[in-house]
Amino acid sequence: MPAVPPWPPRSLPRLFVQVPLDDGARVELDAGQANYLGNVLRMKEGGELLLFDGRSGEWLARIAEAGKKRMALVVERRTREAEAIPDVWLAFAPVKRSQTDWLIEKATELGAARLIPVTTQRTVVERVKLERLRAIAVEAAEQCGRTVLPQIGEPLPLAQLLDERDAARILYFADEGGGAPAGTAFKPGPAMILTGPEGGFTDDERAAIRAAPGAIAISLGPRILRAETAALAALAAYMALAGDWR
Ligand code: SAH
Repeated sequence: MPAVPPWPPRSLPRLFVQVPLDDGARVELDAGQANYLGNVLRMKEGGELLLFDGRSGEWLARIAEAGKKRMALVVERRTREAEAIPDVWLAFAPVKRSQTDWLIEKATELGAARLIPVTTQRTVVERVKLERLRAIAVEAAEQCGRTVLPQIGEPLPLAQLLDERDAARILYFADEGGGAPAGTAFKPGPAMILTGPEGGFTDDERAAIRAAPGAIAISLGPRILRAETAALAALAAYMALAGDWR
């Protein structure tokens, strides 16, 4: 018996909308989204797509009115509940803009629940464009099928991150100076992965992080990884060993 492809086919376009979704809800798309569906995907009235709002899962919707600059959809039914995202946060020292953009996209695909830019003594980038990073996360979620977006906040100084963290959330500190092998360190449960900037952590930062309750220094192997590589590698390892890849 050939496997019946799951309905709705994953190939339907997926859009994030900021309005609460429900059976029969009417959704007015913004000009950018109307242009994308109408002119890029050349979708017509009656066309089907998937919507998600970040809270209520995924819904099948149909184009009710297609205009040049606007488009109205009607929601038909829920196709998926909001998924349980592993409770893993990634705290990363932001690097140059293009690498940070890349990191946000990849960390969203990999399933991070929260992304926290952290400023450290050797962080070269102090400011991040939050709206830009959030838009990148939305696009990555539309592509990868997440219905829950990662939370992205303003950069936090390392000391504040350490102070505010709940000690029940294990802090896996990627220490280029060495630590427990990541292959055995990651355990299921609330987690925060912390990676440093290109220049690495200073010795007093390293001491402060190791002194934090629930902190575990981890090694990501014998080679020195670029900051964004380390963040993504650690997140992937967490997903494989303790997250939703098992
Ligand atoms: N300039 C530093 C390296 C910084 S690498 C030096 O030459 O020593 C940037 C960040 O990636 C580090 O702060 C650390 O968080 C992480 N990282 C890179 N390679 C790692 C490894 N092998 N093990 C653990 N963390 C690593």
